[in-house]
Amino acid sequence: MDNLESQITWANKPGNRTAQAHTSTTVAQAVSPQAAQRWSVAQIEALFALPFNDLMFQAQTVHRQHFDANAVQRSTLLSIKTGGCPEDCAYCPQSAKYDTGVDAEKLMPLQDVLQAAQAAKDQGASRFCMGAAWRSPKDHQLEQVAKMVSEVKKLGLETCVTLGMLQARQAAALRDAGLDYYNHNLDTSPEFYGDIISTRTYQDRLDTLERVRDAGIKVCCGGIVGMGETQTNRAELIAQLDQYGRTPGIGAHQQPGSRRRHTAGQPPRA
Ligand code: SF4
Repeated sequence: MDNLESQITWANKPGNRTAQAHTSTTVAQAVSPQAAQRWSVAQIEALFALPFNDLMFQAQTVHRQHFDANAVQRSTLLSIKTGGCPEDCAYCPQSAKYDTGVDAEKLMPLQDVLQAAQAAKDQGASRFCMGAAWRSPKDHQLEQVAKMVSEVKKLGLETCVTLGMLQARQAAALRDAGLDYYNHNLDTSPEFYGDIISTRTYQDRLDTLERVRDAGIKVCCGGIVGMGETQTNRAELIAQLDQYGRTPGIGAHQQPGSRRRHTAGQPPRA
């Protein structure tokens, strides 16, 4: 794997739609076979078994070969369309399938988004991420988001969106609007996927990732731990991210009312 980026994501409490978050910590190749060689599940499980300080030392060693050791890239996340999602992700309070106390809202007006983006920039963010609780955007919705992307770019911020599954023409439209990153998580391992989501397949996720990458947009991709998966499932997820992802993010979440309880307290991105 090229690197492993952990994310603390998504403050979406009522009255607080933005989160100054996303501290990026590269964990990385503690024991590198060959640069181009992919990691096997067994190799990843061997990493899990390392003493913590050994793992941290090796991770820091690799991190410093590729990144400024003490630099932190800051992003702010904004939920531009909250709740009412038709998907049944077991960890998510925004799913309409669960009674979580999260109401369905409409897409935020452009001016409100720009106000939040300017505030994020004033507070030190260099990237602004916009998330919508959709299975996949309709074309007229995508048009509205593309406008948000181009206007946020004009403020001098990098842009990221997470909108669910995309068609190739939609990825191209976002690229043309100036989108820098698309977030689309793998959620968990292929082997555990059916325990967490029934309304889409693993292949659906991979297909969207390919379309985003083919459009020339940078991919932000990760998964979630703490949903009842085994250590081997976690290694399988990382192996998938190694195979398909470039900057995987691992989150841990806990939401009352959703089917799965996790460990951190913020709704995930679509
Ligand atoms: S994680 Fe995303 S796709 Fe899944 S229910 Fe929540 S908002 Fe919908």
